[in-house]
Amino acid sequence: MKKKIAILGSTGSIGKTTLNIVKKNKKDFEIILLTTNKNIKKILKQSKEFNVKNIIVTSNYHFKKLKKININKNLKIYNSFKNLKKIFKTKIDYSMCAISGIDGLKPTFDMIKFSKNIGIANKESIICGWSLINKEIKKNKTNFIPIDSEHFSIWSLIKNDIHKIDQIILTASGGPFLYKSKKFINKAKPEDALNHPNWSMGQKISVDSATMMNKVFELIEAKKIFNLNQKKFTILIHPKSYIHAIVKYENGLIKLLAHDTEMSIPIFNFFYHDRSKKIFSKPINLTLLNNLSFSQPNIKNFPSLKVLKSIPKNDTLFETILITVNDELVKSFLKNKIKFNDISQHLLKIIKIKELRKYIYKRPINIKEILKTMNLSKHITIKFLKKNA
Ligand code: NAD
Ligand code: MG
Repeated sequence: MKKKIAILGSTGSIGKTTLNIVKKNKKDFEIILLTTNKNIKKILKQSKEFNVKNIIVTSNYHFKKLKKININKNLKIYNSFKNLKKIFKTKIDYSMCAISGIDGLKPTFDMIKFSKNIGIANKESIICGWSLINKEIKKNKTNFIPIDSEHFSIWSLIKNDIHKIDQIILTASGGPFLYKSKKFINKAKPEDALNHPNWSMGQKISVDSATMMNKVFELIEAKKIFNLNQKKFTILIHPKSYIHAIVKYENGLIKLLAHDTEMSIPIFNFFYHDRSKKIFSKPINLTLLNNLSFSQPNIKNFPSLKVLKSIPKNDTLFETILITVNDELVKSFLKNKIKFNDISQHLLKIIKIKELRKYIYKRPINIKEILKTMNLSKHITIKFLKKNA
């Protein structure tokens, strides 16, 4: 029988990769829902190609525009995730949550009760709202699988394992500036930061890879998902991105997981985690295996890593502040308003601002509170940027 699925953020990088997998395995899937923020041209094309009857377009302007131009009477177009109840009568088999940013938190949360299996790529929702998401997952007996490649790899390595974890290595490619001079980085333009050597991703996550902020976020993400102390994690630069996780157990065994640098691999294995299916993949790369190189990142080259010292032990609103401030700074850099180095320099200053520091030890009680903190952090960052322009 076909598995019923939903893809949140289907017009983005992860969304499109997910649809490519569905396309190659059409007999296995029926897509019930696709969503986008603004990309109505693409979602309309996707809904036609995959015969999808429900779509959500969250931007009001684009929703109205699509309602005007759509001629397919069988296509139901909604404007908000409040309509999920109308779309799903029973739980569907798989949901892929691939909206970018904190805006993905509420939709991801709302999707849990309608999903037997939920794959979350939207790292921001895990980082800011894990305690709420985890509670909802348990309440609804939904199976959660992380999609971020490092976290998917750790999950694959440790599932069904009874041994205790001693240490986990999170690998980082080092991004496009790893071998670049200070002079080059000082003058780096958005297109330089977006030119990732190994991965093809959305803009925001590509800039986060260049600053190494993505690895800071991934460490927080991993510590929450696997419920481990931050001290158990080490970040190592591994420029080839062939190994995605290394787990050392208390019994002395060390497991490594390698795969090609394609998000299609974790996504495919999310859909087929409990059934056997072959994916087209390249043979083991001996040249890569013979040249696996790992090194400690230099904090002088990646000042964002200094943030690691400030991360609270438990889930707090600090993570929301961190995500939002970084998000605003990345947007500003992409608009050529600040320099690349300003992203980490400003970030380290803004998170110390008194009005924000009081949230460092406050546990988020609901999504509304997270979104309120997001708005405050946005406001303070914009104020800071105006003052320092
Ligand atoms: P993207 O920018 O390419 O796509 C984002 C998608 O979310 C689009 O479909 C867009 O329409 C939708 N969206 C954006 N803002 C929205 C809003 N306000 N409301 C509703 N929908 C909205 O992003 P991406 O690279 O596919 O990344 C998606 C998520 O997956 C991010 O959280 C990212 O950190 C994570 N992730 C991505 C990769 C990757 O390889 N791209 C790898 C690991 C994790
Ligand atoms: Mg990752």
